[in-house]
Amino acid sequence: MIHSIGDLQVQGRVVLVRSDLNVPLRAAAEGSVSISDDGRIRASVPTLEALAARGARVVVLAHLGRPKGQGDPALSLSPVAARLADLLGRPVRFVPAVSGPEVAQALEGMSDGDVVLLENVRFDPRETSKSDAERADLAAEWAAHADAFVSDGFGVVHREQASVTNVARLLPCAEGLLVARERASFDRVLRDPARPYVVVMGGSKVSDKLAVIGNLLGSVDRILVGGGMAFTFLRAQGYPVGDSLLEEEMLDSVRAILAEAEARGVEIVLPSDVVIARDIADDAEVRVVPADAIPDGWKGLDIGPETVARFSQALADARTVVWNGPMGVFEVAPFASGTLGVARALAASPAFTVVGGGDSAAAIRQLGLDEGAFGHISTGGGASLELLEGRTLPGLAVLEGDS
Ligand code: ADP
Ligand code: MG
Repeated sequence: MIHSIGDLQVQGRVVLVRSDLNVPLRAAAEGSVSISDDGRIRASVPTLEALAARGARVVVLAHLGRPKGQGDPALSLSPVAARLADLLGRPVRFVPAVSGPEVAQALEGMSDGDVVLLENVRFDPRETSKSDAERADLAAEWAAHADAFVSDGFGVVHREQASVTNVARLLPCAEGLLVARERASFDRVLRDPARPYVVVMGGSKVSDKLAVIGNLLGSVDRILVGGGMAFTFLRAQGYPVGDSLLEEEMLDSVRAILAEAEARGVEIVLPSDVVIARDIADDAEVRVVPADAIPDGWKGLDIGPETVARFSQALADARTVVWNGPMGVFEVAPFASGTLGVARALAASPAFTVVGGGDSAAAIRQLGLDEGAFGHISTGGGASLELLEGRTLPGLAVLEGDS
């Protein structure tokens, strides 16, 4: 059983919270940075607010990017602390260190209800070390100053890292509100989903997602395949794909999946028309062609209008939908219509819809769609894929062990 934050004694106690504050940063004027999408910070607020309101001394552990085990000013969490304070409506003290005397001193000086954010935990090579002893060493430094640990960084629960798994072994622990919501949503689609159950897969890499399709074949009714990965499926059926994304080495696995789907009576719906161009550019010359007629020298970069209509139709009667991966290169205007069309069909559907995958969630926000129209928009791309593959995630398993 995994404890919830309500089970923890927090009043007057130092509570470490692993949050996922890994937001996209953009360089702005005079060497400053701006946060281009604060979705993950907003998703972290309820747990921090609940703990602070109960008089906990909240110490947030988080990472930003991949700093390679050393300090990197461009990846400091300092600007994130400022945005977190705005969203939380409480001061957030930023401590520019991950461990050591500066951290010890800051934690000793805390009052009940205070919130402190430590520097990017990945500045310390022990955070992501392959050595369990090194990770445990960093975790022990944190645990020495703390009374409890709350795991709320859903985006990292598939990782074996000091601030995710090791620290949880040293303190009474619980899941935060975000992790609880993520788990409940994935449980709902993985166990006994309402039918028809339809999965929409897209994005760039077949190799990332074939295991998900394989695991879901046992429970879904229909799988719609769009995005870059569709071309390996089309190729596997013998069609020419021009210069579209193609993972040759996955062709046999795709054929095996297609055969298994047929044997199990799972319908696999592929694009029937595609938007093609020679280059990925705002001003590219664009054509719509049948999916079996992509000329040499052209790339398929979005699903076509007929496919949007067919996919929308295939979603119309669904009662459970999982969507992972955009239908095209939605970041570039001429190739965004397919993703927009499918997202609109999902938003309008009464089905319980789980959106997994960083880029799919970003697409929903970038396209200006109402997030409230979706059942659940996951904050974790890798973690959500691993759950859908049926794997046990180390950052969740470790919470079960705390009795
Ligand atoms: P998610 O993060 O939602 O799981 P992925 O990371 O798998 O999605 O894929 C997202 C990327 O796939 C986007 O950057 C998008 O531009 C790209 N993509 C989608 N369709 C195509 C395509 N037809 N050709 C090339 N890239 C594509
Ligand atoms: Mg992605």
